[in-house]
Amino acid sequence: MAFIIQGKGVGDAIVFGKAWILPSVSKFEVEYKSISCGKVVHEEIRFRNAVKSLKAELKELSSSIEKNLNSEFKSILETYQLILDDNILINGTKEKIKSSKCNAEWALVQQLNFICNEFNKINDPYFRERQQDIEQLVSRLLKKLNALENSDIDAMNEKNNFPNASQQKNNWILISRDISFSEISYLDSHNVSAFATELGSPTSHLAILARSLNIPAILGLQKSFNLIEHGEEIILDSECGAIIVGADEKTIEFYKNRKLKKTNFKIQLQKLKDVRCITTDGIKISLMGNIEQPEETEKALNQGAEGIGLFRSEFLFLNKNSMPSEDEQYNAYKKVGNDMKGLPVTIRTLDSGADKILPYLDNNQEQPANPALGLRAIRLCLANTDIFITQIRALLRASKFGNIKILLPLISGSSELITCRTLIKNAMHQLDLEKREYNKKIQIGAMIEVPSAAIAIESLLPYLDFVSLGTNDLIQYTLAIDRTNRFVSNLYDAEHPAILELIRGVVSVCGRNNIPVSICGEMAGNASHTQLLLNLGIRSFSMNCNEILLIKEKILKLKTNTSYKQ
Ligand code: PEP
Ligand code: MG
Repeated sequence: MAFIIQGKGVGDAIVFGKAWILPSVSKFEVEYKSISCGKVVHEEIRFRNAVKSLKAELKELSSSIEKNLNSEFKSILETYQLILDDNILINGTKEKIKSSKCNAEWALVQQLNFICNEFNKINDPYFRERQQDIEQLVSRLLKKLNALENSDIDAMNEKNNFPNASQQKNNWILISRDISFSEISYLDSHNVSAFATELGSPTSHLAILARSLNIPAILGLQKSFNLIEHGEEIILDSECGAIIVGADEKTIEFYKNRKLKKTNFKIQLQKLKDVRCITTDGIKISLMGNIEQPEETEKALNQGAEGIGLFRSEFLFLNKNSMPSEDEQYNAYKKVGNDMKGLPVTIRTLDSGADKILPYLDNNQEQPANPALGLRAIRLCLANTDIFITQIRALLRASKFGNIKILLPLISGSSELITCRTLIKNAMHQLDLEKREYNKKIQIGAMIEVPSAAIAIESLLPYLDFVSLGTNDLIQYTLAIDRTNRFVSNLYDAEHPAILELIRGVVSVCGRNNIPVSICGEMAGNASHTQLLLNLGIRSFSMNCNEILLIKEKILKLKTNTSYKQ
């Protein structure tokens, strides 16, 4: 019987594939089983085999990742290898199997609890992060043990996180309750071409990352995804946010046609790459790309981006064991500056906190009641000025290579800008003393994404060279909608009159003061808002690179001012 499971789509693709179900077993709930003396050796061997199998898998993953873009995950995998060689977890578990005459799962979780208790006594972020690594590994070992228990090698691989090499001849669609930033990076190398999760919403950073990696996805999937069977053929329609299960011939034909039309349309769009983006009333509109990794400049240029309007630098800081050094950051920023060959490159300083936690940063750890209202973005940087200064030094040093600008996130008032300016001056002074070159006239801008900043924009402009409207957060904070919460995502309304009023106000005050304004929230890459944004006076858009040509195609047919009705 055919049926549809609905969620919120990310991207506009049609994907045919087999469902790869990630079981959402509670990680550490295991049953205690007592075993006889004679079974102890067997249980130890079962545990040793699980460790061996996981080690082999990590090794394989590590060498495949080496060839790929996300090389930083290699260091995480190396940490995992080290833990698997570690005496406390592995030998400790074997000891427990022997001394307690119990099953390997129970012994493993007891040993994990023991290690976590010890780590909790040490108030050090390094150990807290190690704890998360160990938990991840224990969870994977439990899955291995579970498969071995059933002595079903196929099941062992299938129940494991991702398809193994022989299964990769199939095209998979991953279905799961949730997925982490690091897991997303494994998808491509495991022939998983789309994913759908119960958690998440279309404006969350998870969705933004999926869009930027060009992975079709559905977030906030209805709970009934449990009805999909592992290995079942399904169709994922990320434009409509639907998974079609048990499709008949006619439905398959319909989706094949739609897919073909989309492919042909994309080929047509590519022809617009070098076409100037001008409205029918002759107004030049600038279209730039948002990127999360330095390697994405190539994609931006291939899509005809006129610059990088937003480089979310925090993705250099995530999925790492420690803060990237000044030189590491400098090299990344320099690469983007060089690659873009003199086109503007707007690099946003670290926007961590809320849904982008850095495990190695102490005051990034507590789970506050309202994370989006807490120590996030510029607030976090001003509470850790060493991090901010390091990043600014790297940005300034890279500013010699290309047209780099600095963008400050989550500014809520002028006092933050004054402090930032002072710190930037300090960093410049340090570089002067070290006789290092940098662009002394580097432009400094602010994300306008907090209602107070939008309303009091006039008070911020004396400290700014440009502004960028971050509508993702502006909508979240103005409408009081947690952008990561799927239960309220239906209320997330980009065209709410309050949002339009704020945009109109910012554009008009900036216009009067000759301060350039652009928009870099997801709204910029959504063709259904393009006319409205033109009407509001937006002339510079920055968006996910995959949307640039689609928006250009739209703008080429529009006038800047129409009697468009909401
Ligand atoms: C925004 O808030 O609109 C924005 C572009 O930043 P981010 O989505 O990274 O918070
Ligand atoms: Mg934001």
